[in-house]
Amino acid sequence: MSFSSLVHDLSLRDANAAHPNRGVASTVSTMDDRTSRTSHISRAMSYTSTAATSVSICGDISSQLHGGYCHPLARSWQAERQLTKSMLIYPLFVSDQDDEELLIPSLPNQYRRGVNRLIPFLEPLVHKGLRSVILFGVPVRPGVKDALGTAADDPEGPVIRSIRLLRQRFPHLFIVTDVCLCEYTSHGHCGILRDDGSLNNQLSVDRVSDVAIAYAQAGAHCVAPSDMNDGRIRAIKLKLIEEGMSHRVVLMSYAAKFSGCLYGPFRDAAGSAPSFGDRRCYQLPPGGRGLARRAIVRDINEGADIIMVKPAGQYLDIISDAKELGKDLPIAAYQVSGEFAMVHAGAKAGVFDLKAMAFESTESILRAGATIVVSYFAPEFMDWLSV
Ligand SMILES: [Zn+2]
Repeated sequence: MSFSSLVHDLSLRDANAAHPNRGVASTVSTMDDRTSRTSHISRAMSYTSTAATSVSICGDISSQLHGGYCHPLARSWQAERQLTKSMLIYPLFVSDQDDEELLIPSLPNQYRRGVNRLIPFLEPLVHKGLRSVILFGVPVRPGVKDALGTAADDPEGPVIRSIRLLRQRFPHLFIVTDVCLCEYTSHGHCGILRDDGSLNNQLSVDRVSDVAIAYAQAGAHCVAPSDMNDGRIRAIKLKLIEEGMSHRVVLMSYAAKFSGCLYGPFRDAAGSAPSFGDRRCYQLPPGGRGLARRAIVRDINEGADIIMVKPAGQYLDIISDAKELGKDLPIAAYQVSGEFAMVHAGAKAGVFDLKAMAFESTESILRAGATIVVSYFAPEFMDWLSV
């Protein structure tokens, strides 16, 4: 029987069933007949609609995908990783003005706070489920910065005081400290300079690793060097071992940190813009995918516990590479200040909804391979997410 004659035949039966006295079949229908007829009719109708939508039923059944994500829960199951509150690390800028609370104009809704302002600000967020923060120290007092970044590990400086305070007040909050010198050096570069203005790698690594140890001794759960000097992961790991702390401190490497124009609002917040030159000789060039892969492999081999990619949204391929190269490590990504400011600017201009884009941009970072996201949206996500 051809397809069209099958449809015709079953349609005729359908008409006869509706008007039994008009057709040729006038015998009393049994239940079995009716069941069989219904199934033929529904099959015919399905064939008809299939033909009408030009989808081949004798072709590839795997072409039919819609059923797999027809329900909100089924849609969420399509993601390898679900965004949860515990994946988020919130950046905090802590200044050496204890009572300061200053809005950062280029970084929407973000403030620079003194130590005395931290607890009241964090209390409701921790209550809602914030699990981790990353601290950036911001010395604003005149005369604090010098060529060696001495203030970075000042025991009375904002980072070390904040670590102690947060450990005491929020015993379950995981405290990450960014480790770099650029906020504390008079020249604004991420290390100690030679006379010609280039980075002295050895001196820089010695100094950066000392700062990391000071933060770990103060109680940081995780130290995260962002300076990009060669060999600093190994140096920090060795000092953690020497100090008997390697078993209780996570070492997170900003392994693939790219130079570029997305850090502008952060530099306003942290006061860390270089006074001359730029950071292109130690941060990675935006096109340097192979270089990023080498840096990731190097830092894994030097003892990193977590690999970070920064920025995130423009470098999803690098996050994916990090997940492939470091398949046995957690991968973090930093949605940086410029990305965050762009989402706000786009929403303000009516291009998209803020919350929708906050989710889409963050979920794309997870899709690429990250399971940890450093995000300025963390406070909003504490309200938007249920777990
Ligand atoms: Zn730096």
